[in-house]
This record gives sequence, C-alpha cells and structure tokens, in this order.
Amino acid sequence: MNLRAFLLLLVSAAVVSATAAPAQDKGSVDPKPLPPLANPNDPKIGARELFARKLLPAAMPTRVIGSYVRGCIAGAERMPINGDSWQVMRLSRNRNWGHPDMIALLKRLSAKAPKDAGWPGILVGDIGQPRGGPALSGHASHQLGLDADIWLTPMPDHMLSRGDREEMSAVMMVRPDRLDIDPHVFTPGHLAVIRDAAQEPAVQRIFVNAAIKKALCREAKGDRGWLSKVRPWWGHDYHFHIRIKCPAGSSECEGQPEPAASEGCSAGDLAYWFKDSVLHPTPPKEPPKPRPPMTLAQLPAGCRQVLAAPDAKP
Ligand SMILES: [Zn+2]
Repeated sequence: MNLRAFLLLLVSAAVVSATAAPAQDKGSVDPKPLPPLANPNDPKIGARELFARKLLPAAMPTRVIGSYVRGCIAGAERMPINGDSWQVMRLSRNRNWGHPDMIALLKRLSAKAPKDAGWPGILVGDIGQPRGGPALSGHASHQLGLDADIWLTPMPDHMLSRGDREEMSAVMMVRPDRLDIDPHVFTPGHLAVIRDAAQEPAVQRIFVNAAIKKALCREAKGDRGWLSKVRPWWGHDYHFHIRIKCPAGSSECEGQPEPAASEGCSAGDLAYWFKDSVLHPTPPKEPPKPRPPMTLAQLPAGCRQVLAAPDAKP
C-alpha cells in the first residue's frame, strides 16, 4: 500500500468510527416523524438534517451528483419492500431508495440466490435516502444511491412482519477472536451470494469484514477474478456492501478508480487487517470531539437544487 492510500485508509477509518452506528441498530414500526427545523436556512445546519426530512425523491430527471461520501441523487427509485426473492429490512429508516440501475441489480441478484446459494432470497438493508445525501445515522457513504447493504443472513422462507423487520438481528459472521469467520454460520451460500454480486459488471467494489475476505480467498474455486472487487472494510461483520460505478452519462458523478486487478488474497494484502492494533485498537484517552456535520454548502451545488425540488409523485 502506498503512503497516500494508507493515509486515505486512516482518514476513512476515522470517518467510519465517528459515524458508524452499530450494524444492528433496531427500528420501530411506528417511527416518529422528525420535528420541523427551527431554522432550516441556517448555513451551519447539517445537510443530513435537511436530506433526512425529504420523504420522497425530487421531481427531476435522474441525476447522480458528487461522490459516494459527499453527494446526492435525483430520480431515485424505491426498492419494493417485498419481491419473490427479497425483503427489505428496517423500513422505518426509509433508506430503500437507489439509482434505477442499483434497484434493477438488486432484483437480478436476488433472483439468483435460490439457485446459486440455496437461499429463499436476500434481505436488503440500507440503500439510500429518497434524495441520497448524508444520513442522520450509519454510514458516511450511501449518498448517491449507488451503494447497498445486503444482510449476511438468508431471507427466511416466509414473509417477515413489520415488527420482525425492525427487530430481527442479522447473524454475526466473524469468530470472537476476529481472525477468521465463524464456520458454524458462514456457508458456501454466503460465498455464492457475494460472488454473484461481484460478478455483476456494474459492481466496482464490495466491502466485507477482513475475516470474510480471508475465507473467500481460501474457499473460492474456479474463476477467482471477482475477488479483486471484494475489499476488507470496517463494519461489515453482519452485512456486505455493494458499490456500483457511476452510471453511464452521469457527468456529475465522481467515481473511484478501479480496484487493483489482483485478488488481494496474499498474506501481505491481508496483514494490515489482522494486526493486533487494528483488531483491538486502543481507545483514545479522551473521546474525539464530534466533528461539525457536513453542511449543504460543502455538498456539490447541484444538491441544493435536488433538495429544493418538489416531491416526485409517490
Ligand atoms: Zn453499506
């Protein structure tokens, strides 16, 4: 890893630890609407307060503006909460909105799960908010409708109730010592679902816990080209994260460079993640001061338009 990549990793780690909510946040079947803002035009207000209050997409043509961690989307589509082979979880978060290409991809992927993984289907976690943008809790990314979380728990063979979707916990895949997966819960089905996602041409990166990456490296048979897209990242013990490239024609979308073509499976590739200081970081003596939230002025200018646009028809 070169110095720049390493520094980026450190910065990202700080961002993740500052903003990552527990993967197992529960919701409520009767979420309280957010109270109106006293001063919505205050330039210091967090953009997340503004985006979280938009319950529907902007009535605008589809546009992806900015980067995965600093941007927004117009024309997001809602992932239906039930399909033949998927169910959406944590409906109270209203984060099942994404770019139409992402929604199509998730549907396609779910349809492969019964045959390829022997799962009845997939459980879909957060995609994005109706207009993307920063969120009040959870990830720093997921701002463009081009990121989606899939639970590492198969969809049950029955329809989950609203309550189940808020309360049910995903299964922890990582062994308590964090050096490998828990072989009692991580199955060939998990590998198949992650592989299907990684083999989608539009998918650029997949984030998993480092122990899961290690297991995939060990267990993948046949074509292993897809492993290069699967990257270790913090906070992916219970779900994996799919990121697609900027869709064609999205000139305002700032993508990322393609990941290196190597499998990322060598001891050297994985060493960083299994260092004791990374597995068990010493907590800072004083809790870090929370950083001021990103303001609307810090987002690309087009996001102001997206925010101000009237609601699309439900
Ligand atoms: Zn995610």
